Amino acid sequence: MHLLIEKFGLLSGWLLASTAIFLRYTLFAGLAFTLFYILKKKAFAWARIQEKHPRARIILSEVQHSAYTAFIFALMAVALYFLREAGYTQIYTDISTYGWGYFLLSFLLLVLLHDTYFYWMHRLLHHPKLFRIFHWVHHLSHNPTPWASLSFHPLEALAEVAIIPIAALLIPFHPLALLLLATWSLIWNVIGHLGYELFPKGFVHHPLLRWFNTSTHHNMHHQRSGCNYGLYFNFWDTWMGTNHPEYRNTFDQIKRRSRSSEMFDV
Ligand SMILES: [Zn+2]
Ligand SMILES: [Zn+2]
Repeated sequence: MHLLIEKFGLLSGWLLASTAIFLRYTLFAGLAFTLFYILKKKAFAWARIQEKHPRARIILSEVQHSAYTAFIFALMAVALYFLREAGYTQIYTDISTYGWGYFLLSFLLLVLLHDTYFYWMHRLLHHPKLFRIFHWVHHLSHNPTPWASLSFHPLEALAEVAIIPIAALLIPFHPLALLLLATWSLIWNVIGHLGYELFPKGFVHHPLLRWFNTSTHHNMHHQRSGCNYGLYFNFWDTWMGTNHPEYRNTFDQIKRRSRSSEMFDV
């Protein structure tokens, strides 16, 4: 962002960053959608989480709101630029300052911090008063597609990225670690909204893998609400008792279906 603003000015830098964020979303969500909803729809029918197909009107709304989100996310990058110029952040630009070991550690810290922030922010946004203002747009999708990955009300998009400037005040990180976090986050969002369960049988019972969330986990959040609030990991949902009681059974049912001839019509 620093380079974009220095080279093209504030407004053009913001617009270019928004475009880059939207294009990255289009690439990841578009690839997943093309593969699972167009080219290999029949071949992957066994892995569908919900029987019904998402409506075109909702998919268009997902893309439209994700485009707004790109502008908000880029606004956060602009805010980060000003914070850094004012000397408030701990962002550093030379990897050798702390070395590659710390670079990896800072990325892991950012992931854990973001996961914790997301869980509690998301639970808060499900308070009826806040839901009506911030979170209703995201829940227009009861049967989400990868295009729902960034489909937020602009105010929710702001709340989603508010953790980044806070993290920049607390943790020294390189801009590349932030770029990695954004890409990691998008990939997990595409998985969460995929509509297909691709993780292998037994995943949710494995002593280590069970701590990662699955497509089924977030899909159930869109179907039923009031449960399964987590993003990357299952820690907080487990500790706070907010996993849907049927989460693991639902996952197992989909995996059983995949081994039998039973599948949804396409
Ligand atoms: Zn929600
Ligand atoms: Zn969602």
